[in-house]
Amino acid sequence: MSLYRDDGIVLRTHKLGEADRIVTVLTRRTGKVRGVAKGVRRTTSRFGARLEPFTHVDLQLHTGRTLDVITQAETIRPYGEALVADYPRYTAGSAMLETADRLTLGEKEPALRQFLLLVGGLRTLGSGEHEPRLVLDAYFLRSLAVAGYAPALESCARCKAPSVRAFAIVAGGVVCGGCRPAGAAVPAGETLALMVALLKGDWLTADASEGRHRAECSGLVAAYLQWHLEHGIRSLRHVERELAQ
Ligand SMILES: [Zn+2]
Repeated sequence: MSLYRDDGIVLRTHKLGEADRIVTVLTRRTGKVRGVAKGVRRTTSRFGARLEPFTHVDLQLHTGRTLDVITQAETIRPYGEALVADYPRYTAGSAMLETADRLTLGEKEPALRQFLLLVGGLRTLGSGEHEPRLVLDAYFLRSLAVAGYAPALESCARCKAPSVRAFAIVAGGVVCGGCRPAGAAVPAGETLALMVALLKGDWLTADASEGRHRAECSGLVAAYLQWHLEHGIRSLRHVERELAQ
């Protein structure tokens, strides 16, 4: 058995037997790791509370035959604390964790950029500087881009023509009048500009956007993300419900 250290964000946990948990962590160097935390469900556990979703932890693990064993856990930053008191931020954060999990398919495949995007997204979400849905959409667009699914936003996804008319998920983003498939959405120019701003991290433009363009942007980004992930992101349904209220 070999010992290694890494830091990462806890994505999810589930029960194992009477007292243990399996903890899924997106780490900085190793990629996604599933580790067993023994005895953490006992009240006397030294590190149970540190292995909750949203927590940035520093870990020591032993390599096991099937699952690695977490032997030490120190909290670097408990991002969940800033989110639990605020339902829209909490649901946006949950959608981020689930997306990070879905976009990092293999275990122990280094995914440094996805890790950094997730840390940045959770930090921004917790700071309260920007509307949670904007932070979430920026995270979705950038994590899709890192995974190789960046939508075309400034020229036609099919022929590269600079003049675009519509947004077509199946085509991979915006399309010109000639390439436009039937049923493609025709978003406002401001909505496309907002998507570009979120992808680039231009918060001045994003924060100045109007509600209707944010709503249209969220709808397109959610549909685009779900199409690429094949199945729906469960947490997103709560975000949609929140928006509808
Ligand atoms: Zn075209």
